[in-house]
Amino acid sequence: MRIVLVGPPGAGKGTQAQFIASHLAIPKISTGDIFRYNVSQGTPLGRQAKEYMDRGDLVPDEVTIAMVRDRLGEEDAQDGFLLDGFPRNVPQAETLKKQLMDWDQRLTVVLELVVDEDEVVRRLSGRRTCRRCEHVWHIMFDPPTREGICDACGGELFQRDDDREETVRHRLEVYKKQTAPLVSYYADEGILIGIDATGPVEEVTERALAALRPFAR
Ligand code: ADP
Ligand code: AMP
Repeated sequence: MRIVLVGPPGAGKGTQAQFIASHLAIPKISTGDIFRYNVSQGTPLGRQAKEYMDRGDLVPDEVTIAMVRDRLGEEDAQDGFLLDGFPRNVPQAETLKKQLMDWDQRLTVVLELVVDEDEVVRRLSGRRTCRRCEHVWHIMFDPPTREGICDACGGELFQRDDDREETVRHRLEVYKKQTAPLVSYYADEGILIGIDATGPVEEVTERALAALRPFAR
């Protein structure tokens, strides 16, 4: 299956992507994770992306699209993938569609995680991410057993710079202006499914897997 997750920052895309991708045995491709890794390693790509990420703006399309094209061309993505954080605007969606057509592929389904803005702000303010394995935790809603330590791998947890309040507000504006139009774009394509992404993480995963089941080969 070729799946895209959409939803505002903090909707739970990364959280659900971990479970859905492992359940379906497809790679999870998170553009945010790839950018953050490159920033942490100080690569040329990381240096290009950093200023945009710090502001909460989108990294320019030509940089992002080239990165995703390379990643989707890798061996492990040939039989399916789960995209988290891409596409983020209509031009990225158009380019993805053309690229997949060139490879005789198409998206199977786009899963929208529906959550209201107050909940998203609560989620982002308590988000903690593992430096080593990128697992996502929340200090109240999904806390690790030991504060500051990842249960999955023992790595150190950190708060993302772009989860500060002012940046969060800006990222939500960017979402509304640039990314939310993808919901009607994919609805028009007939491949959009929305699920209620509130409630416990496991219940949202159940809803997501139930929504995806009819598309499984
Ligand atoms: P996104 O990838 O959409 O930006 P994340 O998956 O990083 O969102 O989730 C944002 C924060 O919300 C994380 O701290 C995560 O632990 C928490 N979270 C995710 N799903 C839920 C949920 N169903 N209920 C409460 N908190 C959640
Ligand atoms: P995320 O982890 O998905 O919240 O992404 C973190 C940041 O990475 C975003 O605020 C953007 O600066 C950048 N980013 C991630 N995905 C994209 C994308 N598809 N297009 C442009 N910028 C992106």
